[in-house]
Amino acid sequence: MLVTNHVLTGALVGLACPGPVSAFVAGVASHVALDVVPHWGDRPIDEVMPIAVADGLAGLTAIAVVWRRTPARWRLRVLAGMAGASVPDLDKPGQVVLGASPFPRAVDDLHARIQTRESADRMPQEIVVGLGTAAVLAVVLRRLRA
Ligand SMILES: [Zn+2]
Repeated sequence: MLVTNHVLTGALVGLACPGPVSAFVAGVASHVALDVVPHWGDRPIDEVMPIAVADGLAGLTAIAVVWRRTPARWRLRVLAGMAGASVPDLDKPGQVVLGASPFPRAVDDLHARIQTRESADRMPQEIVVGLGTAAVLAVVLRRLRA
């Protein structure tokens, strides 16, 4: 699953949680749930890298925009939800930039094992999930600001 979709989902999860700790834990759980469902992937690394870089930048932008659009009262739990939902994917930039994942081998093995339902044909699904989640999040945040 694209990390941008994990970030957007994590924001919604954070809004549904009573505080930052539960938001972070639920964010990690949402990451696992989204990685288990069929999603885009299963491409050679040289094809994935340009998309991964663009997705990483989009995810960081989403964090900044959501942070800015979230009323102060909700910000910490929303940030915690986004962090929990995206932190499991730090294994990829860790491997590319530092040559190693920041997580224990058992965590990386589990993360790889749950992502067996990837297909190169599912990018349209990723885009629909991202746009739909962003739309729901925008409506919820607008109502919280009103
Ligand atoms: Zn993942």
